[in-house]
Amino acid sequence: MSAALASSAPEPMRPGPVGRWIDTADDQRWWFDPGCPSLDFAYSGAFAPVMDGRRTTSDEWELLRSPAALAAWLGERFSAIDATCAEHELRDALTLREAIANLTYAALGGHPLAARDVDVVNLYASTPDLPPVLPGGGRQAGRGRARASQALSAIARDAVALFGSDARDRLRECAADDCSLVYLDVSRSRNRRWCSMQRCGNRAKVRAHRARHRDAGQPAGS
Ligand SMILES: [Zn+2]
Repeated sequence: MSAALASSAPEPMRPGPVGRWIDTADDQRWWFDPGCPSLDFAYSGAFAPVMDGRRTTSDEWELLRSPAALAAWLGERFSAIDATCAEHELRDALTLREAIANLTYAALGGHPLAARDVDVVNLYASTPDLPPVLPGGGRQAGRGRARASQALSAIARDAVALFGSDARDRLRECAADDCSLVYLDVSRSRNRRWCSMQRCGNRAKVRAHRARHRDAGQPAGS
């Protein structure tokens, strides 16, 4: 994963409720939709398999560097969330995120899920999540703004749904040789191959196009 988050460029509109912008060294910005909220959360930081007992990480991917950054990340995805986060909520978030990352690679590799990771996800899922709201009422029910812990619970519950069902069989790694992004294939035809059509899908198309022209003995043009 040789990608870095843009430092000061303005954030364009988010194309979907789940996902993040990724900027690569060749000045390309593309949208990565990992397919579900828990994977989206895992990708708020570097997220790679554990090698030799440690996860290979790239600090450039880290979005949650402070409680304020966590509040901003949650605020983009959960409209009813309190705009402030405390240090302990950031610690909770990073603990949950690590467990989801571990479970993802275990499920992807067909390995058993480690009890300690399952325990972490279950712990956060056991707390109150975000209540559903029917619009059109005349008064406020319950607390005005939801706390970060409720959003973390919602994310943990998504992880329970993902890893506790056949859905985990639809976890895929991008088909590009030089890309290890993981996503949940929620396409109807179950044939999503790329982290992003804009990125790896397009690169594969260009390569195939060039190979066809090479085989035909013609210049590939653009
Ligand atoms: Zn890819």
